[in-house]
Formats: sequence, C-alpha cells, structure tokens
Amino acid sequence: MILLTRRAEFSASHYYWNEAWSAEENARVFGKCANRNGHGHNYTLEVTVAGDVDPVTGFVVDLKQLKDAIEREVTSVFDHRHLNLEVPEFRTAIPTTENIAVAVWRRLEGKIPGAKLHKVRVYEMPDLFAEYLGG
Ligand SMILES: [Zn+2]
Repeated sequence: MILLTRRAEFSASHYYWNEAWSAEENARVFGKCANRNGHGHNYTLEVTVAGDVDPVTGFVVDLKQLKDAIEREVTSVFDHRHLNLEVPEFRTAIPTTENIAVAVWRRLEGKIPGAKLHKVRVYEMPDLFAEYLGG
C-alpha cells in the first residue's frame, strides 16, 4: 500500500456559536470567535488516499480525478463562503477545524474513483490542523 496526498486551499468565514447556550456562555467559551459577524481564514486542505501502485500507469490514483473530486465536492462549496450561513453541514455543526475535517471526509468518501480515502487534514493556520481518518 502507498499513500498519496493532494493539497488544496480555500478561504472562508465562520464563527463559533452553540444555539443551546446563552450569549454570555458562547462568549465565555468561544471568546472572540463567537462574534456573529464572523472572521476569515485561509484554510489548507490535505487529502490522502491509499492504494496499490497500478503497474501500468505507476499511479495509485488518477491525479486529475482526485483534483476534480476535491474541487467539485469541497472547494467549490467552501471557498469564499461563510461556512455557518452557506454550507449545509454547518447549519447544525459548529465549523471548527475538527468539524470541517469530518465534513470534508464525508463529502469525499466514495467520490475518488479507484482510491480509498485514508486521511483528511485541515489547517486553519500554519500551526494548527485537525486530521480525520474516518470511522
Ligand atoms: Zn476562526
């Protein structure tokens, strides 16, 4: 088995807010991130697939199909959007880096022909990332 990773970027806005809590509780837990006007990040996404090297092509996955799947399923939906307001998953889930990684996984699982999704890593900033390995 070999792993192959493709990187992509998107920029998006978000805020952290739990509807079950008071404004005071949201401010206490989430601090500045609870400002409901939102704030932006330049996210970096790394999608890792696993498989065997095709003896004919030398590839583990068709790179164009991997790129197209990431664009179609994730970046075209997330890029330059307000995640809380415009991306369906985050009407209910708080768009933390962790939840974004899970959402990306769910959007890509089964959508990359011939390859098995192995890991999704989302960087909110260069020194902070979340990884999801499914399950
Ligand atoms: Zn943020």
